[in-house]
Amino acid sequence: MSQSVLLTGVAGFIGFHAARKLLARGDRVVGFDSVNDYYDPQLKRARLAELMRLRDERNADFRFVEADLADRSALDRVFAETRFDRVIHLAAQAGVRYSLENPESYVSSNLVGFANMLEVCRHAKVPHLTFASSSSVYGANRKVPFSEHDGVDHPIQLYAATKRSNELMAHAYSHLFALPVTGLRFFTVYGPWGRPDMAYYSFAEKIMAGQPIALFNHGRHSRDFTFIDDIVEGVVRASDRIAPPNPGFDPANPDPATSVAPFRLFNIGNGRPVELKHYVEVLEAALGKKAIIELKPMQVGDIEDTLADVSEIETALGYRPSTTVEEGIAAFVDWYLPYRRRAG
Ligand code: NAD
Repeated sequence: MSQSVLLTGVAGFIGFHAARKLLARGDRVVGFDSVNDYYDPQLKRARLAELMRLRDERNADFRFVEADLADRSALDRVFAETRFDRVIHLAAQAGVRYSLENPESYVSSNLVGFANMLEVCRHAKVPHLTFASSSSVYGANRKVPFSEHDGVDHPIQLYAATKRSNELMAHAYSHLFALPVTGLRFFTVYGPWGRPDMAYYSFAEKIMAGQPIALFNHGRHSRDFTFIDDIVEGVVRASDRIAPPNPGFDPANPDPATSVAPFRLFNIGNGRPVELKHYVEVLEAALGKKAIIELKPMQVGDIEDTLADVSEIETALGYRPSTTVEEGIAAFVDWYLPYRRRAG
């Protein structure tokens, strides 16, 4: 059945793809985004234009609100106009290095903005809030794969600290106000319409411009690269299912005094590690151009390896990532080269 969904971060990489999927199946989507300039706003505007094109082509029900999460009154207005069956909250200040120079942006979007989102969901009695957390909550120097049962209370980056705070704040709201919540820890997402601040994108830019790329730890870092379509499949599955209901929870009468709302955290990755060096080789092959590679030692603060244990989300939601790095990079390059030519 068609659902009414609030989707924040809709001009962003993952939000854009999630909107396409929801609109394609007939959901009514209100997209929310401040279109900030953390990276090229032209790319965000191009994503929004593509969503508007799809809306007109398919007569889909899509409305866009340009506003900041830290502005509580803007959120109040959105919730006063529409009753949402689901909220998918992806808007956040992403990136790790940027936090060294711009900490206030993380506090404003990821803490104040997130608290606002919890408040409006609580008052509107939203049946399910799904939000983006991150693999960065696992920090450095730990064994792979990362499991949801591992302790994660020692973040080493401000970004990771805000994401872990989101998990804790959401847990408290879920229990205090019977708000069903699912948090998803994304692992290095890549694909078409991707983020220029991420390594694969900047590697592609440098390879095409004939500039050298630096591979720290001699390219031996391994990452759990997750293709965007797999991530979006997981986001939509998670949002659709308030999983699994706790005994005694009655969605029709969510009384915190008598029932505990479901609160779940899931890793959402590919579950297969890929060495950075190999990833670059696949990118070179897809671009048809060799990279100038500078192998460098490990940097302080680098995370050696990431890998998601995805067994929880597989069991609970039937999530099965299926895209290989070769397929995913080919899809990225198919979008990237024409986009680059058009952008000049
Ligand atoms: P993105 O930067 O492309 O999208 C985020 C969007 O949120 C942007 O369009 C931005 O304008 C918007 N936004 C930021 N602050 C806002 C605010 N205060 N008010 C309104 N809008 C605001 O990032 P993405 O890759 O699409 O990531 C989506 C979510 O997933 C984020 O929460 C991010 O932290 C998380 N995540 C992403 C990855 C990844 O590899 N891409 C990995 C882990 C977690």
